[in-house]
Formats: sequence, structure tokens, C-alpha cells
Amino acid sequence: MAPANTKEIYGSLVFNEHVMKERLPSATYKSLKATLQRGAALDLDLANVVASVMRDWAIENGATHYTHWFQPLTGITSEKHDSFLSPNKDGTAIMEFSGKELVKGESDASSFPNGGLRATAEARGYTAWDPTSYAFIKDGTLCIPTAFCSWTGEALDKKTPLLRSMKAVTTQAKRVLHLFGKEVSHVDVTVGPEQEYFLIKKEHYAAREDLILTGRTLFGAAPSKGQEMEEHYFGALRGEVSAFMKDLDQELWKLGVSAKTKHNEVAPCQHELAPIFDRCNVAVDHNLLTMEMMKKLAPKHGLVCLLHEKPFEGVNGSGKHNNWSLSAPGMNLLDPGDTPKDNLQFLIFLAAIIKAVDEYNDLLRMSIVGAGNEHRLGGNEAPPAIVSIFMGEVLEGILDAIASGSEYVAPAAAKIDLGVEVLPQFAKDDTDRNRTSPFAFTGNKFEFRMPGSSVNISDANTVLNTAVAKELKGYADELEQAEDFDKAVVKLIKRTIRDHKRVIFNGNGYSKEWEEEAARRGLKNEPSACEALGAFVAPKNIALFEQMGVLNEAECRSRYEVKLENYAKVRHIEAVTMLEMARRQLVPAASRYMGDIAKGMNRKKTACPGISCKAEEKVLRQLTNYTDAMSDAADRLEACVEKAERSEGALATARCYHDVVLPAMADLRAAADAAESICGAEYWPLPSYSTMLFYV
Ligand code: ADP
Ligand code: MG
Repeated sequence: MAPANTKEIYGSLVFNEHVMKERLPSATYKSLKATLQRGAALDLDLANVVASVMRDWAIENGATHYTHWFQPLTGITSEKHDSFLSPNKDGTAIMEFSGKELVKGESDASSFPNGGLRATAEARGYTAWDPTSYAFIKDGTLCIPTAFCSWTGEALDKKTPLLRSMKAVTTQAKRVLHLFGKEVSHVDVTVGPEQEYFLIKKEHYAAREDLILTGRTLFGAAPSKGQEMEEHYFGALRGEVSAFMKDLDQELWKLGVSAKTKHNEVAPCQHELAPIFDRCNVAVDHNLLTMEMMKKLAPKHGLVCLLHEKPFEGVNGSGKHNNWSLSAPGMNLLDPGDTPKDNLQFLIFLAAIIKAVDEYNDLLRMSIVGAGNEHRLGGNEAPPAIVSIFMGEVLEGILDAIASGSEYVAPAAAKIDLGVEVLPQFAKDDTDRNRTSPFAFTGNKFEFRMPGSSVNISDANTVLNTAVAKELKGYADELEQAEDFDKAVVKLIKRTIRDHKRVIFNGNGYSKEWEEEAARRGLKNEPSACEALGAFVAPKNIALFEQMGVLNEAECRSRYEVKLENYAKVRHIEAVTMLEMARRQLVPAASRYMGDIAKGMNRKKTACPGISCKAEEKVLRQLTNYTDAMSDAADRLEACVEKAERSEGALATARCYHDVVLPAMADLRAAADAAESICGAEYWPLPSYSTMLFYV
């Protein structure tokens, strides 16, 4: 396939600004834009015109159906396709799509997880267009990005609270900018998620029930070669991988997803794709589309894409670095400015983020909880479960100097001017990029590195936006009353640094010393997913969400339930998959091998009486031990699963899966992996780690 002209295909399947301007009557276009800018709902006349133009455009581009594309609490996207078709009485048909169908859809909400929210209400919800994210055509269907709510107005999806949190933080940021004398039309939250993933061969995937059913390998002895050679990072791409990436770029570009960077990652078979950052909700939508396209296109190249956080034990897992900033037209609010006044403005936003990360540390940790991510965090490859901020030496030095009122002694690299008023002037800090920090300042944005590779990053961004909104609000409330603005700002920054400095850490986040130091500082370190989830329903956090208009208490509680249930379900599926594989594949395979060895020994002895069978005997005895251990461990695991299933309530069930079932799974795996390492290769039914990771 000849690569298409990138400029021509870019956005060709998107009903974007350009198409709207070209196709909509100019009055409609103007009033649509005005409505969007106000963040108001579309009136029906306007929606009707937009819908009919959108329909014609979609049909011209090969669409036959439309769908409201939404993000239920399961984290993956949902769609229900309706055709444009409307039959006439005379046997012909017309293609219809009304404004009503564009802006609002009805949806049966009863089959989506809702954590008890809809238990009493009727089981219908509705989806509403998020016109700030463009409609697009995917697989012959016009997809309309939508939010999903119950008729009583509670959010049933991930987009609704995200949009609310964006509104909260941008509103407060605007207030702060106003105090600095900057009148801006709007503020945006910008996000650029770097997506990590694995690609393995289709036939290897197909031979492993664990990958098919759970997305990760539940068994597998360590390969004789791991990632110690570090040869994969930025290494040359395998042929089929390169073809896949080209194909992926093309398809994403058509959808207006600005896929920019692609390269090999640290682990063998691991890769990364980074887009150019976009508005937060659009970046989330695009990331979901990216994951979907990765899964869909890989098989065309003989590959399967694994998005799981930890597909292979002992090999680096995958995350999704969430780059985050705030911007107003023409200015990135996290870009240190050139003048003391600009620096002051930058520092106030920085201070708000430091305070937010310290006060809502537990909530940020909660926002990235997942059964998959639990294997990855703290695994010496991903940030630990402690949330801290990396600032860089220069910036931390400056903050220290401000806090203590002392003179800052600048390292040569930084441009410092302590003479001007009270504040040092400094240049952007490009010094060492700390790769072990969960939340790192990288010059003009923060990089939140804890989210897992498979998840919808709405959760992480909702929490981040909401917490920062709350701090900016507190600042704006205070500064609006100030008599001497500059002095008040400096005082505020000083106070923030003094009170929240503990969350700043520039050292090695993977080290044991940091765990001890963090404990001394009183920072939380909660490795267990179910315990970390508790932050969702902590009174201070419910108060935060309510105060900022992002989630009400019922919504927080329901989401908490859904997350606990999801954790338990994932572990349940993993445990029963292990049982099935151990009993029906692995134990029989080991027995078959042992049977053949025994037969071979007998034949040897018949041919040469008295011949040594030492090697065979050793294998027989050892493999028998391992197989017995597997069989016993399987029985124990089964009992543990039964116990978990008998637990009452979502929390107790999730806890039992974590505390009781997980260790039993580890025991079964240990026995099976030991068996694999001495069982004849052609007998073992699962492709080995070496086969999967080091294919040529
Ligand atoms: P890295 O060295 O971690 O690969 P890059 O500078 O290449 O970092 O950027 C990584 C991601 O950060 C990209 O998706 C990029 O678009 C995004 N990014 C850059 N600036 C911003 C910003 N102001 N806000 C949000 N994301 C940004
Ligand atoms: Mg990065």
C-alpha cells in the first residue's frame, strides 16, 4: 500500500472546524461556535441544521449508520449503531438524521455498571453530544462523542465528570489570571498521553488462554534472556511492527488523532506512541480511539496488541504518561516567564499544583487504581505507590529560597536575579529528567506517570483538574481581598511551600530509602488497590468533588463500588482461568511427558539391561514434585476463590481477592513455572516467554 498524502488524509474522517465552516450556512456556523464558547446546549433549530449537514457529509464519506459514542464506567467505549435509513411507503427509502438524534440519545443504562445508582430509578439513561469533541467516521459509522447520564442527572460515564472538572479548573484559572491583569477569552486544560503497548505474534496469543481471557500471562517461566541488554529501547523496528505502525499512523491521522512519535520501549516487544497534546477531553477521546485502533489493526500484520499493564511477569509493564498543563490563548501557564511578574504568575500555578498533589495525594493514587496497574506500581520499573513531585534542583532551590526568605545561590545554569523585588528570575530548568518520579515537572508541564496503559485517563485527569481547581479557588478568594497584591502572592507562595514541601522529592523514586523517607514525611504508601480505593469515599474527598461541582456523594459512592467490583471480577476471571489451564493443560502435559520418559526408560533397560537412567529418574522425581505441587495449589486456589465469592459486600470481596486469592494464584504459578522449566519443550502447551518476546 502506497502511503497516502499525510496532509490530505489528516482529519479526512472528522467533522471538524474546517468542514463545519465550509458546509454550514455561515449564520449557523457562527451561532454554533458562539454556543460552544458559552458552553451552552444547542437549541433544536440549530441542531437540526447541523445534523442534516453532518448526515450529508457522513454519507458522502461512506457512512450508513450513526452512534452516540460514550464512555461507561467500565472504561472502554460503547456504541449502539442506528442506520440513517428511513423507509418510505412506496418501497423506497430516505436517509434521515435529526437534530434531536444528534444532541440526545436514549440508552438502556441497565446493563452498564452503575454501582447501585440506578437501582431504584428506571433503567434508562441518555447520552448527550459533547460538541467540543468532533464527530468522526469509524468503520462506516458516524460517531458522536457523548456524555452519558441518568434521567435524574447523575453521571453514568467518565466523560461527564471530566468535563465538569475541566470547567472547574479553567474557571478558577481565569479568575487568577484576571488578578494578574490578564483578561483571556478562555483557559484550556491540555493533555498529551504517551501510550505504551506490547505487540506479539498472533499465533502465540492464540495459543494462550490467559492472554485471550485476561490480557496477561498467568504462567510463564522467566526467559533465559530478559531486558538486561537494554537493546530494545529506541532500537530498530521489526518489519511487521514497522508496517503496523505506519498503518496505525495513517488510520489515526484520518481520525484527526495527531500521532507524532513512535519508538521501541525498554522491554522486548514493547512500544510507545505519543500524540501532540490537545484539549483534555479531546486527548482522552483520542487516546481511547488510539487504543481501539491498535487492537484492531495489529491482527492485519500478524500481531496482537497487548494493552495490559503487566502482560509478562519480570518484564517491564506498560503505563500511560499523562502530560498535563493549563493554557490560555498564546500562553502556557506552566511555562516560567521571562519577567519577575510572569514568574510570579507561574509560581502561583505551580504552588496550587504542589498543594493539590499534597492534599489530594490519596485521591490521585486512587485515580490510577486497577487490577492491572497493581502489578506494575513499585515494580522497580514504574513509580511506587507513593505520590510525590519532582521539581528539579533549580526550581526546588528557588522555592526553598522563597519560603525561607533567604538568598538563592544559583547554579551556573540558572539565570537568577534576586535584585528584582522579592522574587528571583529564572530560566527554564532543563536539567536531569527524573524518570522515577510519579509526578514530574518537565519544564512547562507536569507528567503524571502512574496511570496504567489500558485505562481511560479520564479518572486521573478528573482528579487532577478538580484538586487544582480547589486550590486555585482558595488562592483567588484570598487574593481578591488583598490590599497589596504582589506581597499577598509572595506570602501565599511562601505559606504553600512551607506547608506542602514534603511532597517534593527529586531523588530516586524506586529506592528503598525513599519509602522510608516518605514514611517519615507522613506520605501515604498504599500498594493494595482495594485499600487505595477507599480515598474515593473519604469525607474530605467527597467534599472536594461536591464543592467543585464534579461529583456528588452518591456518584462518588457508586463509582467506588464499581471500581471494587471491577477489581474482584478481574481477579476472579484470572483465578478461574489459571485453574482451568493448570488442570486441563499443564498437569496433563507434564504427565504426558513423564509417561513418555517412563516408557523410554523401560525401553532403554530392555535394550541394555543395567543401563543408567539417572537423568530420566531425576526429571521424573522433580517433575512429579512440581506436578503434585501444582495440583495441590490448584485445589487451594479453588477453595480461596469460593471463599472470596462467599464474602459479603464489594469491599470484603475485593479484599479477599487481594489478600487470599492473589497469594494462592502466585503459589500455583510458582509450581507451574518450575514444571515448565524442566518439562520437554514440545510437551509444554504454552508458548514460552522466550518464544513470545524474542521472535524474529
Ligand atoms: P518525553 O520526553 O516524555 O517523551 P515530550 O516532550 O516528547 O516528552 O512530550 C510528551 C508528550 O507531552 C507529548 O504528547 C506532547 O504533546 C505532550 N505535551 C507537550 N507540551 C504539553 C503541554 N503544554 N500540555 C500537555 N501536554 C504537552
Ligand atoms: Mg514521557
